[in-house]
Amino acid sequence: MPGFRVVKFTGNSDFYRMKRLFLDFASTTPLHPEVEAVMLDTFRNYPGNPSSIHEDGRRARFLIEESREKIASLLHKEPSEIIFTSSATESINTVLKSWFMRNLPGTSRFLTSPAEHHATLHTLKYLKEKGASVQVIQPDSDGIVSVFPVDSDTLVSLMAVNNELGSLLPSETVSTAQKAGALVHIDAVQALGKIRLDPFLSADFLSFSGHKFYGPRGTGLLVAKNGSELDPLLHGGAQERNRRSGTEATALIAGLTRALELALNNQESAYSEVYGLNRYLRQTLTAQWPAVTFNSPETGSPFILNFTLSTDPEEEIDSEALIMGLDAKGISVSSGSACSSGSWEPSHVLTAIGKTSYEAQTTLRVSFGPGLSREDLDRFTDTLVSLLIRMKASKNLI
Ligand code: PLP
Repeated sequence: MPGFRVVKFTGNSDFYRMKRLFLDFASTTPLHPEVEAVMLDTFRNYPGNPSSIHEDGRRARFLIEESREKIASLLHKEPSEIIFTSSATESINTVLKSWFMRNLPGTSRFLTSPAEHHATLHTLKYLKEKGASVQVIQPDSDGIVSVFPVDSDTLVSLMAVNNELGSLLPSETVSTAQKAGALVHIDAVQALGKIRLDPFLSADFLSFSGHKFYGPRGTGLLVAKNGSELDPLLHGGAQERNRRSGTEATALIAGLTRALELALNNQESAYSEVYGLNRYLRQTLTAQWPAVTFNSPETGSPFILNFTLSTDPEEEIDSEALIMGLDAKGISVSSGSACSSGSWEPSHVLTAIGKTSYEAQTTLRVSFGPGLSREDLDRFTDTLVSLLIRMKASKNLI
């Protein structure tokens, strides 16, 4: 990706910084240099198809199985529980569609929240059209889905960390649902390398995405508890114990494994660094733009900070214009809306927690990664506030 430069990471490894001020780490993360090095080496030196029985194939197979063992050990799982996929979207689709296929349409039951990622919501919408029953639990105004009554023989699918708000799934969710006889799938995409995974590791299924923890895009993991039944989404050469066909991407798997090791090893230092940055940005934004309200709960993941800049529609503040203004000054953040079929729609997550469409339209999401400084955040706040003042002045509101 152009615009990257490598600087010395203040922790125990080198890390990336960008020439631009990138504050959008929840959307994706740059490749860690060590991951890149492992992948280049694997691309060059492991050319065989892992299913081939000759030396080249056997070497690639060995690397993949070694990677699987490392990941299993880091996640306190068995190697047979680890399935390599192309993305968290694929992992999520596999789990949900498998549950549907294993039950008759009329008897397949799901439980989810309206604040889930579209990989879950759009898949469940599709399955509902095919006859599945989908129960949707409302989150509270902090985006938290509380312990719920759940029927047995239901597949519960919820995120550990909300990707727009950073809200955390209560730690007892998995055990409560399992005690009630339900199966649990956790979308842990925004959790790995950021918060403690322990409360979620006993889930029947877990989905992860490599590009959210400095690994390569195009990689995902599905963790399926031994004994859980899973139909493949992709049929073919019966790779991954016949749970995900397709020739394994040896170099991507090697990169994903290194990224996971680094993310878990650096988790504690990354958390405390980002926690400080999150609190600092909350303070400086409040001081410079008192109308700001924070949608991210203080108890949530510090890696995500979501805030609304105006509640008065007269002010006509528009996050898309802000994003473009920030972009022109070299700063990348996300907004509280998304382009759908050519028109701007308020984010389904903000709608789910009760924000009006105007509030969603004036909402930004900043997401943090390592290597950022308070000066970087000052640059963001100063640029944002001067854009806001200009917007209000152009409406003769100041
Ligand atoms: N789930 C969550 C919470 C996410 O944030 C994302 C990506 O934005 C996904 C699922 C989908 O991940 P992928 O890009 O690997 O398909």
